[in-house]
Amino acid sequence: MVAATDKPVAVPVNIGSAARAVDKSELPEDAPAIAPEARSASSDTPLFPEPETASERDRYFMRLAQAAAEEARAAGEVPVGAVLVRGDEAIATGFNHPIGAHDPSAHAEMAALRAAADRLQNYRLPGCELFVTLEPCLMCAGAIMHARIARVVFGARDPKTGACGSVVDAFANTQLNHHTLVVGGVLEEECGAALRSFFADRRRASREARARLAATTGSGDDAGGASNATDRTSAQAPGSDPGTRWPL
Ligand SMILES: [Zn+2]
Repeated sequence: MVAATDKPVAVPVNIGSAARAVDKSELPEDAPAIAPEARSASSDTPLFPEPETASERDRYFMRLAQAAAEEARAAGEVPVGAVLVRGDEAIATGFNHPIGAHDPSAHAEMAALRAAADRLQNYRLPGCELFVTLEPCLMCAGAIMHARIARVVFGARDPKTGACGSVVDAFANTQLNHHTLVVGGVLEEECGAALRSFFADRRRASREARARLAATTGSGDDAGGASNATDRTSAQAPGSDPGTRWPL
C-alpha cells in the first residue's frame, strides 16, 4: 500500500483543475504491494532501486498516471497524465490541458510539478519521483531539472519530441543534469494504446465530419484534410503514420 499522509492538503487555488494534491482516500484499495527494495530507507532519504526491482512499484504509480491521462481525454485533450511521488506517497497529479488553459506549458508534468511544489511550499522537490505516461519533452525536462526531481519514470516513448533519449537526451548531459535517474517504457504498450485510441477517435470524427459536409454540399472530401499537427496542443488527428509517431 501507499504510505498514508497524516492530513490531506487542500487543492491549491492557482493551478486550475488539471492539477491537484492527492488525498490518500482517492487511491485504489487494491494497490499492489510495493517491493521492499523500493521502499525508502527513511522518510528523509528515499532509496531508488534499479528498475527491475522496482517494476511492481513503478507499474502501480504509472497506473495512477494513466488515470490522470483519462481526465485529459475526458476534457478533450491529448491523454497524458503525471503523478508526483515522494517516498511511497503520491502527493500530486496533473494532466495535459494546453487547449483548455490556452497555455502551451500546460503539459501533465508541469501541472503535477506545480501542484506538488504548491503543496510542499517549495519550488525544489528533492528526492521526489515523477511518473508520466509519455516521455517528457524538452520543456518538461528542464522543469524537472529545476525542481531537482530524483527520478523520472515514463511510459510510451515520443519519437517526435521526447527529450529522454528519443529525440534528444537532456538528462544525459552532465553539464545540465546531475540529479535525475530516468526509466522509460513502464507499461509502454498500455500508455501508447491510450494515445493511439485517442487519435483513432479523432480521425474517425474527422472523416465523419467531412462525409457530412460532402453530403450537404455535394463537394469532395477535402474539407480540412490531414493535419500536420506536431504539438500536444493539437486536437486534430495526424494525417498519416498512426501509432508510430505521436503527433505531440
Ligand atoms: Zn512536456
